[in-house]
Amino acid sequence: MEQGTVFDVLVVGGGLAGWRAAEAAASSGVSVALVANGAGNSPDIHALNVPVGPGDSVERYIDDTIRSGRGACDPALVEVLCRGALALADEFPWDRNPDGSFGMLQPVGCSVPRCVSIGHHIGAWALAKIKRELDGKVEVFHGRVTTLRLEDGVFHAKWTGFRATGDSGAARALSVRAEGGRRIAQALSARVVVLATGGWCGKYVFSDNPPELRGDGIKMAQALGAAVRDMDAVQYEPTVALAPAFIRGIPVITTMLHEGATFRNCDGKEFLPDKQANKDELSRAIFAEIAAGHGVPDPRAGAKAQAGVWFDATGVDPSILRSRYADTVRRYEAVGVDITREPMLVAPAPHTSLGGVVIDPRCRVLRADSSPIPGLFAAGEITGGVHGLNRIGGSAGTEVLVFGRIAGSEAAAYASEGR
Ligand SMILES: Cc1cc2nc3c(=O)[nH]c(=O)nc-3n(C[C@H](O)[C@H](O)[C@H](O)COP(=O)(O)OP(=O)(O)OC[C@H]3O[C@@H](n4cnc5c(N)ncnc54)[C@H](O)[C@@H]3O)c2cc1C
Repeated sequence: MEQGTVFDVLVVGGGLAGWRAAEAAASSGVSVALVANGAGNSPDIHALNVPVGPGDSVERYIDDTIRSGRGACDPALVEVLCRGALALADEFPWDRNPDGSFGMLQPVGCSVPRCVSIGHHIGAWALAKIKRELDGKVEVFHGRVTTLRLEDGVFHAKWTGFRATGDSGAARALSVRAEGGRRIAQALSARVVVLATGGWCGKYVFSDNPPELRGDGIKMAQALGAAVRDMDAVQYEPTVALAPAFIRGIPVITTMLHEGATFRNCDGKEFLPDKQANKDELSRAIFAEIAAGHGVPDPRAGAKAQAGVWFDATGVDPSILRSRYADTVRRYEAVGVDITREPMLVAPAPHTSLGGVVIDPRCRVLRADSSPIPGLFAAGEITGGVHGLNRIGGSAGTEVLVFGRIAGSEAAAYASEGR
């Protein structure tokens, strides 16, 4: 990068929404830079929604999303999500059943099995694939953007960190540190910006999000005049491990409920027999059970604390657990728990920020009067309105792939117009 370089497109955020945007923008031939201070939540995406299973359709997916969103979804964004999801069916080598049909899980909030994966690690896999294919085509910077300002049609992002190229970035950053190099604070300039900084759930003490997710991008967008919505809406994941300590904070995938897993209180009594309950209903019911004095003490907090409940998968066919939930089985085995025979101690934890920056279906960031802020786009968990007040399981992965691509294409088109 030459001193004073102005990129066509700057992507802030290195999760799937950001990298997907970078991929789409770079394929349009514009110059692209990406800056991020971690990988965010995206590597943890196990599976995502594609409405191609038996009895499923785009309309059914739309219905499920709107119903689960508790009246707060933006219908135009839901339409983009659910229609865009169809294109993903042919894009990835999804798990298949022996008869060739999609191997699907039924996420909480979906009326039919809809979640596809490639061995339960689609997030990390897709990120690695995009980075590999873009190696050398996108300038990558490792660091935290602290402010974003717009001056004479050019955005200036102040960031602190290290410059890097491609996948060797982390290693380079480490070697700079090892050589006694200082963190550098400087500005990145671009004519168009895509904000993809994820949510703010990393701010909570007990959360399954990494701490760098603090809502920075939302603040930057607000400083440029963006409207925000549903900022009090956070989705709790009902089943986040409380113990053993080594896996504390790692969620257990809730699709197990549809395979026969159940919740039990401190007396071993089953509660919440409604398997169709949504994530918000599940979390509320668990908190109510704990508040009623039926919680299971968190071993770290002393005998009197009643912080969790048992998530019991011992009724699930062990062969299903070992095939569809191999990662979970292995993770617990590594800390001495056999989940085919013993329940897991879990509690609800902040998992997804549902509110955020207001966008339109082209991912343009909007002001309060619904006019777009020229040159500013956003995609992924930083935005609000797609899931309303309650996200169905598996829809965030779909969201970042669908909206990330739109944001990147729109950003590139906007940058090209201005050249
Ligand atoms: C444990 C876990 C499991 C999940 N599993 C699933 C699943 O199976 N299916 C599903 O659909 N959803 C799942 N989700 C939700 C999903 O992972 C997220 O909603 C999605 O990954 C958000 O993607 P994103 O690209 O918008 O943000 P993120 O992936 O969170 O990325 C945000 C990026 O912005 C960067 N950033 C933030 N602030 C700054 C700053 N100031 N400067 C520079 N960079 C910054 C971060 O470092 C990161 O690179 C899961 C979430 C968690 C926590």
